[in-house]
Amino acid sequence: MSKSSSPAFIGGLSVVVLAVLALTGCGSDDSASTTTTAAETSTTAAPATPAAAPPCPAEPIQVVVSVDQWGDIVEQLAGECAKVTTVITSSAIDPHDYEPSPADIASFTDAEIVVVNGCDYDAWADETAEGLNPKPVIVNACEVVGKTDGDNPHIWYGPDFVFAVAGAVTEQLEGKLPSVGSYFPDRAASWNASMQGYRDEIAKIKGEFSGRTYAVTESVFDYMGDALTLKNTTPEGFARAAANETDPSPGDVQAFNELLTSGGASVLVYNIQTEGSIPEQVRSTAEGANVPVVDVTETVAEGATSFAEWQVAQLQSLYQALSGRG
Ligand SMILES: [Zn+2]
Repeated sequence: MSKSSSPAFIGGLSVVVLAVLALTGCGSDDSASTTTTAAETSTTAAPATPAAAPPCPAEPIQVVVSVDQWGDIVEQLAGECAKVTTVITSSAIDPHDYEPSPADIASFTDAEIVVVNGCDYDAWADETAEGLNPKPVIVNACEVVGKTDGDNPHIWYGPDFVFAVAGAVTEQLEGKLPSVGSYFPDRAASWNASMQGYRDEIAKIKGEFSGRTYAVTESVFDYMGDALTLKNTTPEGFARAAANETDPSPGDVQAFNELLTSGGASVLVYNIQTEGSIPEQVRSTAEGANVPVVDVTETVAEGATSFAEWQVAQLQSLYQALSGRG
């Protein structure tokens, strides 16, 4: 699937990869007779670079990621040249009010690169990284995309944001390990290719349903809604209360119920990782009014093997719901 997107580019990469493999393979194998010739040629061309250099160093770069929404992406970009530790990996945990354990803090100890979400979502991770000596490079997703504390922290739901953060991660990986040449750009290219289904699904919804209305029980999906050019009709008071993690007023709930029963939202996007009786009440109003409900999750869904797989499954349910087949 991923290879069909840009065959010429992938083909070009393969040639480079083969050439590198040929050189490293020769250098590390001292028994084959062809080795000598290749190694000699290489030595003549670039005396400072021994052909024996493996693609990754014996000690991989230590990378720590605060939450699994970024963990899978970073793992794919880093490949075998880094050891990636993701601190919060369970969908049973709400990252919004997470208290790190001593073991979580300890997992940062040797970090050379730390990837945090920022926007006050995982301040504990940022603080832990800042306190390390030597201080690691910190990639703060929120800052990478020009957001700040107080902004909607769900950066991983913004498609442009995801690619921008991935680019920043690759840049830091390259900076830490320049000796591996095209390894990280190659990883980035194949990750990018693996995201084609995600881009396609977004383009499809945007193409067919631009301007359609949706409402949300909380702000997790807002950046994606914007990217899809859908219209968020969630009553303002309700949205504000949800963003501040306070209870909406009875009037806000009433306004939401009226929106759903009067056809003011084509779908309700529902974060199943949010607890509380009010979102559940809104959901049952939607169901009673035959407004399709699209379930989304805050963190990578149980069973999804990648960020792309997780997001594509949700976008497909949204497409079905907007098509009236939800
Ligand atoms: Zn959230």
